[in-house]
Amino acid sequence: MRYTILKSSDDGFLGRLLTGLQAVLDLHGHIRADADDPDLGLAIQVADPAEPRPFRRQSRGTFVVTIMEGEDGDNLLQRAYPYLVRTLSNLLVYVTDTGGRRTLHFVTPELGHYQVGYDAAEESAFFEEVYRRLKPLAQSRFVLDNIFEPDLPRELWDGNETTRALAEAGRRLAALDLLPAPFPLDQYLSPRDLRHLKLLYGIGGLSYGNLSARHEGDTFWMSASGIDKSQMEVVGRDILLVKGYDPERQAMILSVAADREPRRVSVDAIEHWMIYREHPEVGAIIHIHAWMDGVPSTEINYPCGTYELATSVAELVRRAPDPAAAVIGLKNHGLTITGRSLDDIFERIEGRVQRQVPMV
Ligand SMILES: [Zn+2]
Repeated sequence: MRYTILKSSDDGFLGRLLTGLQAVLDLHGHIRADADDPDLGLAIQVADPAEPRPFRRQSRGTFVVTIMEGEDGDNLLQRAYPYLVRTLSNLLVYVTDTGGRRTLHFVTPELGHYQVGYDAAEESAFFEEVYRRLKPLAQSRFVLDNIFEPDLPRELWDGNETTRALAEAGRRLAALDLLPAPFPLDQYLSPRDLRHLKLLYGIGGLSYGNLSARHEGDTFWMSASGIDKSQMEVVGRDILLVKGYDPERQAMILSVAADREPRRVSVDAIEHWMIYREHPEVGAIIHIHAWMDGVPSTEINYPCGTYELATSVAELVRRAPDPAAAVIGLKNHGLTITGRSLDDIFERIEGRVQRQVPMV
């Protein structure tokens, strides 16, 4: 992996942190490169909380980590998260100082928040731990492209029973308070940064959770990206028909009506596609940012929309006693739940889900 570290200075704790990160990356054989290298895999930058600026990626294959010093205390995630968004980072490392004790708070786009404490006496173990957390995330691959094929049969242009069941399920999730409000990106990003973000990742907004239900064969209806799941009404805008996956282009293939400009499907379509294809008895899948006791969990918190997250969830579904009734934990993130139908999923989760995802 090629990487770059943009240093503002060598002073203070951040200077030591960057020097140590460089040493551990070199030790593991990663190659230093320029910030505009087209094959850059990882960029680490320091941001000033008074003036947070995005690192301008040449491609979305570049994983951007922003490091920033901040205040400890309550609501750390709520305070730190807007900096992740404003710097267009894949990961924010928010460094706090509590009476000389430094802690690195890792903040992810999925609202993950976990910590690594700094111990000057165990510096090499500390940098190994930071590296262990960073490397798999930085090397995962997004499956974000959509190929729209205007072949949706006319009788499906206004949806069918399944799309109406999905709309109802979205309202039900909202009533259970399991869908946080979409994050107001436009309040935190300049129009220019918003355009850059949309161009790079093709996302229309930032919202959490998604749901899908099987149509025919391996095809399935799924919520669109960045929408309010409690108001899914229009096919092509709120709900899309996923037909397949193109491994060469690393893109999802969608069947859309000929007369509308479609939105993009949820970034987790690749994960749902893997599960439907492998388990014909799965009729519906719901993903929420919540938790249930005793569920099996992925070991690495790969970002949403990556091939690696999809593969690790699909593997746990495969190992479940009944893959069509599986509840899988996504570490530091949430749950993916399979069912024979949407109703079947609600019956199994209602009253059992807790909104707080444990962070480890
Ligand atoms: Zn999620």
